[in-house]
Amino acid sequence: MRQINRDKLQRVKSVELAAFNQRTAKSEAMLKRAKKSMVRGVPMSWMYGLYRHHSLYVTHGDGPTFFDVDGNSYLDFNVVDLAVTMGFTNSFVQRAMEQSMQRGAHFLLPIEEAIDVCENLAERTGVPFWQFTLTASGANTEVIRIARTITKRNKVLVFAGHYHGHLDDTMLEKADGQIRPYVLGLPHSAAKGVEIVPFNDLAALEEKLKQGDIALVLTEPALSNCTLVQPEPGYLDAVYALCQRYGTLFCLDEAHNFSFAYGGLTRAWNLKSDFLVLGKGLGTGIPFALYGMSKEVADFVDAHTQIDLGEPGIAAGGTTYANTLSILAAKTALENVLTPENYARTNYLGRTLAQGLQASFDQLELPWRALHLGPRSGYCLKPQLPKNGAEAYESIDIEFISTRKLFMANRGVWDAMATAGPQVSFAHTDAHIAQYLSAAHEFLAAIAG
Ligand code: PMP
Repeated sequence: MRQINRDKLQRVKSVELAAFNQRTAKSEAMLKRAKKSMVRGVPMSWMYGLYRHHSLYVTHGDGPTFFDVDGNSYLDFNVVDLAVTMGFTNSFVQRAMEQSMQRGAHFLLPIEEAIDVCENLAERTGVPFWQFTLTASGANTEVIRIARTITKRNKVLVFAGHYHGHLDDTMLEKADGQIRPYVLGLPHSAAKGVEIVPFNDLAALEEKLKQGDIALVLTEPALSNCTLVQPEPGYLDAVYALCQRYGTLFCLDEAHNFSFAYGGLTRAWNLKSDFLVLGKGLGTGIPFALYGMSKEVADFVDAHTQIDLGEPGIAAGGTTYANTLSILAAKTALENVLTPENYARTNYLGRTLAQGLQASFDQLELPWRALHLGPRSGYCLKPQLPKNGAEAYESIDIEFISTRKLFMANRGVWDAMATAGPQVSFAHTDAHIAQYLSAAHEFLAAIAG
């Protein structure tokens, strides 16, 4: 059996980096100018940190493809880390945005369509009550506050390999038995507020829950921020049952997973929880997120709503939350794009993508597995699929991934960032999947030892 040949990988990397730099000279010049007014020359430094090559400057998108300032085109399989799953120029979203601005961008009062959105979400997920935020990070922040208030406990439990956004409560990891932040700038107390255990390990979870100090267990149904880890059969039902036994609330974060199946994995797998977080503008590219909650939780929040200049209530909301753009984007996404038929199509294309990758691994005698869930695929560089975050991280080989990204970019394909897909969008077709698979096969053939 073969593996990555490191010499070949290094040679491919230097050839492809030189080609990339040559093709993207205008982006590089723009970055040089931009560095005088923005950190790393980008409006959000994470845009730079995501890649091991210089940032592209983009002019526009068309369906699933975007164009850089040098005129190169990129068929996108990163789908803006799930924030644009309907293509860059979806006509329903365009119309909704035009209507929003004709209606008025925001009133700090509700519009009727907010009811349509929340009724639709309640119907498709079974979770009855909903609130808007601008980001999934913001939604998780509010969920944690509510859980702390209800349980009168402080700690949040997450699973190794987790990501729930840029919030102080969860940007921590466990290494050598110690919990520590994996970013700079968190309060010193942050490590005291979190427990981290392996996914798919009920005994480890129960041991922590037994202590009686966990307010909330927060997880994605399938971990999608460390490549892809799926729950073992019955695992998430057992997690919920344990949470109930020990008086802990349970939140499913479907900021990503909602794009995998109609009604999210909550509906597809018939999952129960106290909270459900959705995000990434449901894939429209318009910034908003939502969280849902059970009737019991909603009753509590209702009784502890913050009234201006009144008694303290639960801290929630922000001046730009639930604006007209967010609400009309959510409505059109749910009614016109996130339909059962369209999910069936992305699931079919995702299967084609995963089967194609697996065929390449087999043909090239790489003992690897194609990750697969709905429209999501990926590269597991081992013969067994990962059961938890630690196993999944063993497949995050940054040299392999960053070289693959360069190679694919030079062939007109924008591959997924290190911890993610590739993922199929609602704008992709069979021909697009074939284009990805052909470039991926060529890359794998070039670096297999
Ligand atoms: N939860 C999950 C599961 C996510 O994947 C992400 C983003 N990758 C977030 C929350 C945070 O989303 P945002 O950056 O929009 O706040």
